[in-house]
Amino acid sequence: MKKLMTEKRKYTDEPGADKGAIHLMINRWCGNSCPFCCNKQYDLDTVPVATVEELKAAHTVMLTGGDPFYVTGIIDICSHLRHDYPNIKQLYIYTSGRWMFLNEEVMVHYDQLFTYVDGINFSPKNKCDYAAIKKMLTKRDFAPEFFIHVRSNRIILMPNDFMTREEQEKFIESLHLKGLAFYGAKFEVEYREWQEEFQPNGGVWRRLPVFL
Ligand code: SF4
Repeated sequence: MKKLMTEKRKYTDEPGADKGAIHLMINRWCGNSCPFCCNKQYDLDTVPVATVEELKAAHTVMLTGGDPFYVTGIIDICSHLRHDYPNIKQLYIYTSGRWMFLNEEVMVHYDQLFTYVDGINFSPKNKCDYAAIKKMLTKRDFAPEFFIHVRSNRIILMPNDFMTREEQEKFIESLHLKGLAFYGAKFEVEYREWQEEFQPNGGVWRRLPVFL
């Protein structure tokens, strides 16, 4: 694997980017250390702080980090976003998986979370992430009740050093996504490559002035 560039890039919005689709970084910590993490590639101080005007004009907000599920009070954050900015039509959360599963507030009060969130973007990076996603998606007293409301989901799989692509495909099969589709839940599955020079793909990136 090639070495990550040492000089950090300055963030700028892509020309023509949809400013109504905001990737909102709320924290920095995720517990992983992926060599080509976009957070390592960019100087995060150059990511603009989200303004009220921008949030008032947003149709979609994608909470990202770090891992937003590591943040205490994540359900309240989602609730305030939806109530303060009713213009936001879609709210998604990006997670590698295990912090969602380990977040007791989320697993106990998921009936609150599902009223605010339209989809979860899972992107497992290590074995614990894979195990957590499997536990959640096959958990009978959780998955049908949660994903009947949270329907626009995605699972993004990156190459790793402990699974072949074939094993990743078997992992996806083991999740029985067709069973969840019965409840109306959609899970798009994407196999992506790491980008040595990460390119934002759609929307703009914004951050909080302090990371939670
Ligand atoms: S899990 Fe995501 S945020 Fe964390 S190091 Fe890996 S790519 Fe970066």
